[in-house]
Amino acid sequence: MTQSPRREPEPFNVLMIGLGWFPEQTGGLNRYFRELFEYLPAARAVVVGGQGLADSDRVRTVSAHGRPLAIRLWALTRVIRKEARGASIVDAHFALYAFLPLLLGAFRGKPLVVHFQGPWADENVESGDASSWRLRLRRALERYVYRRATLAVTLTGAFKQVLVERYGVSPWRVKVLAPGVDLDRFAPGDRVTARERLSLPASAFVVCCARRLVPRMGLSLLLTAWAQLLAADGDDTSARPPHLLIAGTGKMSGALSEQVAASGLAETVRLLGRISDEELANLYRAADVNVVPSLSCEGFGLVVLEAAAAGTPTIATRVGGLPEALAGLDASLIVTPGDPDALAERLVAAERGELPDRYVTREWATRHSWNLVAERHRALYTGLLGEGPQKLRVVYVGHVAQLSGGEIALARLIDALDDVDAHVILAEDGPLVARLLASGVSVEVLPMRERTRDLRKDRVAVGRVPIIAFLDTTTYTFRLARRLRAIRPDLVHTNTLKAGIYGSLAARLARVPAVWHVRDRIAPDYLPRPAVPLIRALIATLPDGVVANSQATKRTLPSAPERTRVIYSVIHDPITQPPTRVTAASDRPFVAGMIGRVAPWKGQHVFLEAFAQAFGGGTEAAVLVGDAMFGDAEANYGVELRELTRRLGIADRVEFRGFRENVWAELTAMSVCVHASTVPEPFGQVIVEAMLAGVPVIAAAGGGPSEILTDGLDGLLYPAGDVDALAEALRRLRTDIALRKHLVANARVRAQQFSSGASEAALMSLYRSVLRK
Ligand code: UDP
Repeated sequence: MTQSPRREPEPFNVLMIGLGWFPEQTGGLNRYFRELFEYLPAARAVVVGGQGLADSDRVRTVSAHGRPLAIRLWALTRVIRKEARGASIVDAHFALYAFLPLLLGAFRGKPLVVHFQGPWADENVESGDASSWRLRLRRALERYVYRRATLAVTLTGAFKQVLVERYGVSPWRVKVLAPGVDLDRFAPGDRVTARERLSLPASAFVVCCARRLVPRMGLSLLLTAWAQLLAADGDDTSARPPHLLIAGTGKMSGALSEQVAASGLAETVRLLGRISDEELANLYRAADVNVVPSLSCEGFGLVVLEAAAAGTPTIATRVGGLPEALAGLDASLIVTPGDPDALAERLVAAERGELPDRYVTREWATRHSWNLVAERHRALYTGLLGEGPQKLRVVYVGHVAQLSGGEIALARLIDALDDVDAHVILAEDGPLVARLLASGVSVEVLPMRERTRDLRKDRVAVGRVPIIAFLDTTTYTFRLARRLRAIRPDLVHTNTLKAGIYGSLAARLARVPAVWHVRDRIAPDYLPRPAVPLIRALIATLPDGVVANSQATKRTLPSAPERTRVIYSVIHDPITQPPTRVTAASDRPFVAGMIGRVAPWKGQHVFLEAFAQAFGGGTEAAVLVGDAMFGDAEANYGVELRELTRRLGIADRVEFRGFRENVWAELTAMSVCVHASTVPEPFGQVIVEAMLAGVPVIAAAGGGPSEILTDGLDGLLYPAGDVDALAEALRRLRTDIALRKHLVANARVRAQQFSSGASEAALMSLYRSVLRK
C-alpha cells in the first residue's frame, strides 16, 4: 500500500462489501479487498470488523464477530441497505453478504458486481465441514447471488470456468481480472545481503517455496524432486552449493521434517516455519528460483507475482490458475503436477541457469501493479454505467481437448480475433483447456460420455454407427442446444468434423446461426467411404456458413460458393529474432526432422526410409517430434516405426522426442523439416511453422502443402509416398547450402501471409454475412 494511489474524482460511486478488514483480519481475500479499496479513493466500504476499528468516513464496520450468522447477516444487511442508497454501483467481495440485501431489493436499479474468489461452499467441505444440508444451502445462496449479479469478477479463467460450469453463470457476464501485487514490499534488492541474512553462501543455488504445509501443496513431492537434483549434481557442489528453503506452517510440518531427515536432505533443506512479510520479501530476493508444486485447488498463486516482483521467477505446476499467473513470462516454467521427475528436470535446468532474467521477471511483474488493477476495475465500473460497444458473442464448439492440429488451430484463431467475445465449449477436459485459459480464453467442459466421445472415425460409417453412440450423441446434441439457448450467443462456430455434426445441429435447435469449420478433406482417401456422402449432405444443409482450411479441402465439399470460404489457418511467429540456422548448419551435424502426430497417413515411415537411403552410414541425425494421439492403430504404428529404424540400421541416429508443446524450440534444432503425408494433407500448419522459424521444408505434394509452397522457390515438393524422391531432396539440401538459404528467405516472406490478418478479416466478413441472413 505504499505506491501512491490516484486521487482523482471518479465518475461513479462504488460501495464495496467485504468480508473483513485487513490487517485486523488476515487472509488473501481481505488483503485483496483492502489493497483494491486503497486504490479506489472514491469507494466506500462495509465490512465485518472486530473490536477497535473506528468507522471512518469511508468505512462502515459491523462489529458482529462471534455472534450467530443470522444475527450478523441481519446487522450487516441493515447497514448495507442504508449505504447502498447513495451508491451508483455495488461491488460485493463475499457473495453471502450480498444475499439478503439482494433478496430485499436493496440494490434495485444499480449494477451489482460480485467478486468470486473461490467456491465458498466447496472450500468449507475441504476444511472438514461436510454436512450435506449446509453445503446445499451455501451453494444455493452463492448461486442466487452470482446468477443475479450484473457482472462477476474472477481472478483467473480457471475460476471463471467454475462459475460457468458449476454455478451456471452466463460466460458473457464473467470478467477475468488478475489481482495486483505490492511492488514496493516485494522489490528486488542486493542478493548477497539477502543471503547473508539467511546465512547462505553468496555462490549458492537457492530455491525457495512459501506455502501452507498441507498435502495439496505438493511439498513432499518437492522434497523427492530435490533429492533427484542432488543425485544429478553428484558429489562436487562446492562451487554452487544447492539450498532449498521452505517457509510456512501447517499440519504436514512434522511429516516434512521427518522426510528431510529420512532422505538425508538435512544439509541442504531448511524448514523456516512461519515468517513475516519482510522476511518473505528477503527470501524471494535471496532465491534463484521459487517453486509452487501444488497438486490441486490453486486459485491464483499470488506467490508467483510476489516472487516475480522481487525478480525471482517461479517454477509451478499446471494446476488451477498457476499457468495463467505465469502467462507471458516463460512457458517452460510450467510443469506437470504430481510428477517429481518433471519437477526435478526443470530444477536441474534452472541450476544450469535456464531461467528468465531477473530484470525481465521484475518488469513482467509490474503489469500487475495495483495501480493497473484498480484502473481495470474503474474501466469495468464505467463500462457498466455506460453503453460500450459490444463485441460479437461467439461460442466455439470443439470435440477433443488434446493438442492436435485442429485444436491448436482453433486456439490460435480465437487468440487472433480481437472483435469477438469468445466462449469455448468442449466435450472433454484436456490440455487444450489449460492452453486456452492461459491465453485468456473462456472455456467450459460439457462432457460427453467417454464411450461415444472416443469413437474412431474408421468406425463411423453409414449403418455401422453403434446404436449406443447414436443415442449418446443425440442426448448430447439436446444438452448442447439447451446450453446454447441459455447463454444465447450471436453465433456458433463448430470446429472439425464431429463437433461440426452435433454442434451445427444443436445450433439449429437453439435457433442460433452456425458456421462449420472444416479441417478435413471430405474424401474417400481420408475418411471411410460410406461416411463421405453423409457428411457432405450434413455440411450442405446444417450450417449457415462454411469455412474450409484450404482450396484442397473446399474441393471436397458440396458446391455453394457464397456459403463456403477458404480461410487459411492463422499462425503467428512467436520468435522476434529469427534464428540464424542456415549459415550455422554447415558446421553442425545435419538434422532432418519431422513434426506431427504419429499416424500412418502422416508418413513417418516414408521419412525414415528416405533418410536411411540418403544418409546410410553417415553422421546425419533424424528427429521425430509428436506422438500417437488417437487409438490403437496409431499407437501400434509408433512401435512399428521404432522397429523400422532398427531394420534400417539407423536406430542410433533417430530420436523419438514424443509430443512437445514448444515446437518452436524443436525447430531451432533442425536443418530441414520434412512433411511426408501419404494422402493429401488438408492444410499442414507444421509447414508454415517451419517456414516462420527459418527451417527449409520438403513436403509431399498435393493438398494444403501445394498451396502453401512453390517447388524450388520457398520449399521443395516431392510426389507423396515416393521414398526415392524424398531421399534425393534430402541429399540435395544436405549439400546445397545456397539452395537452403534461397528457400528460407522466400519462405519467410510467404509465411508472413498467414499472420497478416487476412484470415481474421475473412472470417469476420463471413460472420457478418451469416448474421445478415
Ligand atoms: N505439434 C506440437 N507438438 C508436437 C507435434 C505437433 O505442438 O509434438 C503441433 C504442430 O506444431 C502443429 C500441430 O501440432 O501446430 C499439427 O497441425 P497440422 O496442421 O500440421 O496437422 P494435423 O495434426 O492437423 O493433421
